[in-house]
Amino acid sequence: MTDPADRAAHRALKPVICYPVETLPRPDMALYRAALASARVTGQTLAAPRDAASFRVPAGHFFRITAAEGPQVGDLNLWHAHDLTERFYSGKTRALHGTHVGIGDRLWSCLPFLRPMATIVRDDLDWYGIDADGGAVHDVIGTRCDPYTGMLLSGTSYHHCCHSNLTRALADATGLSLAQAEPHVHDVLNVFMCTGFTRETGQYFMKASPARPGDSLVLFAEIDLLGALSACPGGDCGATHSSDAALCHPLRIDILTPEPGALHGWTSPPRNGYDRSHGR
Ligand SMILES: [Zn+2]
Repeated sequence: MTDPADRAAHRALKPVICYPVETLPRPDMALYRAALASARVTGQTLAAPRDAASFRVPAGHFFRITAAEGPQVGDLNLWHAHDLTERFYSGKTRALHGTHVGIGDRLWSCLPFLRPMATIVRDDLDWYGIDADGGAVHDVIGTRCDPYTGMLLSGTSYHHCCHSNLTRALADATGLSLAQAEPHVHDVLNVFMCTGFTRETGQYFMKASPARPGDSLVLFAEIDLLGALSACPGGDCGATHSSDAALCHPLRIDILTPEPGALHGWTSPPRNGYDRSHGR
């Protein structure tokens, strides 16, 4: 097949941003920062290497994910604490905020809810930016490592992929069976992971996480949250994943409670206002 005569003209068109975000409701970052400054740690849990932990965060509290001992990628799932059908929507978060998220970006929930579940308030890896390969940190372009893709690509059964870790953590947190819990596990926020797409082939790539011991990501819970975080078997994801080959570290999750009155003027966002009549 020959190229059409207007190939070059089509390819020279300027990109148009799909979702301009100027009309998005803006978080009051000054209020959040002030509330965080006086917040106290009121809960803590640890995701062991190649395993996941669950945690609950009431609306109006913060949660902090820390690579306490060394570079480690974390795969994060979020659900409404009282309704598992409302969960993190990595695809729409990507469409709104881009391939990677940072300070001021929100983590949005799935349809028909589509409201902010959490807002990123602090990021010790904010300095990384976008590198020459198009790589950046904290992506919403990956999915999660899982045993089905492992079976597809290499014919092996590995049980400590993030998908399985998150499934066990959700089952333990809710009393659901593994079979009941698994469909609720969803595409993640890849905390601390450095990723991008190659320019030549458009393939998903990873680089070793630049997180140093003690680096953290702090999020504000906009609604009551149930979270699960997997310390990926890929460790810093600089070489491999989906096996026991990589050096792995634990990830710490702290729950922080602001001082009473510190969030004066803030209200938990309601569900999306569309009436769901779909034209009928
Ligand atoms: Zn993983």
